[in-house]
Amino acid sequence: MTDKTYDAVVLGAGPAGEVVAGRLAEAGWKVAIVERDLVGGECSYYACMPSKALLRPADVLAEARRIPGVPVGDDAELDPAAVLARRDAVIHDGDDSGQLPWLDERGIDLHRGAGRFVGERRIAVGDAILSAARAVVVATGSGAAMPPIDGLGAVRTWNNRDATTAAKVPASMVVLGGGPVGSELSQAWASLGTKVTLIDAGDHLLGREEPFAGEEVAAALRGRFGVDVRLGAEVSSVRAGGGVVVELSGAGTVEGEELLVAVGRRPHTDMLGLATIEIEPDDRGFLEVDDRMRVGGRDDLFAIGDVNGRALFTHVGKYQAWIAAENLLGREVAAIAETIGSPRVTFTDPQVAAVGRSLAEAEADDIDARVVEVPTDASAGASFQGKGTGGRSRLVIDQATDTIVGATFTGFETADLLQAATLAIVAEIPRARLRHAVAPYPTRSEVWLKLLEKWEA
Ligand SMILES: Cc1cc2nc3c(=O)[nH]c(=O)nc-3n(C[C@H](O)[C@H](O)[C@H](O)COP(=O)(O)OP(=O)(O)OC[C@H]3O[C@@H](n4cnc5c(N)ncnc54)[C@H](O)[C@@H]3O)c2cc1C
Repeated sequence: MTDKTYDAVVLGAGPAGEVVAGRLAEAGWKVAIVERDLVGGECSYYACMPSKALLRPADVLAEARRIPGVPVGDDAELDPAAVLARRDAVIHDGDDSGQLPWLDERGIDLHRGAGRFVGERRIAVGDAILSAARAVVVATGSGAAMPPIDGLGAVRTWNNRDATTAAKVPASMVVLGGGPVGSELSQAWASLGTKVTLIDAGDHLLGREEPFAGEEVAAALRGRFGVDVRLGAEVSSVRAGGGVVVELSGAGTVEGEELLVAVGRRPHTDMLGLATIEIEPDDRGFLEVDDRMRVGGRDDLFAIGDVNGRALFTHVGKYQAWIAAENLLGREVAAIAETIGSPRVTFTDPQVAAVGRSLAEAEADDIDARVVEVPTDASAGASFQGKGTGGRSRLVIDQATDTIVGATFTGFETADLLQAATLAIVAEIPRARLRHAVAPYPTRSEVWLKLLEKWEA
């Protein structure tokens, strides 16, 4: 056994872990980071990056088809082998060596292996014991959750890792779960030729978002991508049979060569030895934190990113890494983004970009809310992306303060419209002031002009 002492030990080198390690090291702390798989985490190799690489070609093709003069015919199709090869390049063929110089330059020691607590601020990894003089930061992320469905354990299933790294296009696939992951991956594989059936128990996709957002995505999946979207459908059991046969309660069966399970996330807390430091995760396995990212109010134990369950996005994990680092460095900062409603984007076509509260959430929070809504594609800027991109842009207004408390933009590539809404919500900018934020012509950000005109009408 070797024993090494650091100021901080970070468990998990995903986006959250890397950012906190970097900030502490740049402040002069001696930092160790422990990673059992790939430096860069789920996001870089099995989640955000490969899924976006799989989705983007269909967006480009659709846009090219809409613009007269671009030499792409109606019968042009994607080249699946080339799309998968580019996906592999985006994820560096699962090789994390390109990430290591960033750690080296900051003097961060990387320990490969699964880390677990063996005492207060003491982590075992391989045959080393790492002691943290000041704090341990848990950033171990999450994996795909498996629902308790009869027969599920006995058939071959895909999780997000399989569905983002598959080397060949399956002929058919059943997807369980119509949240962002299930919707994105349904579109991605359907665009490459897979016959997809998407099953969700709710009455619209993307259950957390404004209902119209999920309805638009379902319509596009059905209409443009040929996905069989089954809403309000409950899976009663699953069995093998060629590929996988999924039995729906009172609605027959559906079959697929593959079965992708995308019904939520399970935090990586079960093998961490948390009992040795008398910490118990919540009943779903997440490590509860306060707004400074401290676990159990301790100043030497932090949890950031997916593992604390607050908002499971890379950008939120990186934000929480900043919050944790500020507090560790003696600057008291409390997180507010998750309470306000963190930004979130589903990268389907139409994209769904949202921040803050939906109308229903605002009403549930007793906000005297009203909505202002315009078509997303009604600006001169949008016309350059071709006719008929559609979409709706909605602001949720708090009438008491005349400020925005929520925003949703659906349509073609709306993700970059979101940051202006995030700024307006975080800074609580009232309409009278926001009216002076002039949107340039001819850009799609003129959707803001239309929204403001409607708001003041
Ligand atoms: C298909 C898919 C697409 C997504 N797309 C987006 C997107 O477009 N935008 C977005 O913001 N979010 C997206 N997400 C969510 C995003 O991937 C996560 O929110 C993000 O990866 C969380 O970062 P993290 O650092 O908390 O954890 P992770 O990225 O999960 O990293 C945690 C790391 O800890 C390691 N680890 C776990 N246990 C141990 C241990 N005991 N010892 C050592 N190491 C350990 C793991 O190996 C892993 O590398 C997507 C998720 C999925 C599934």
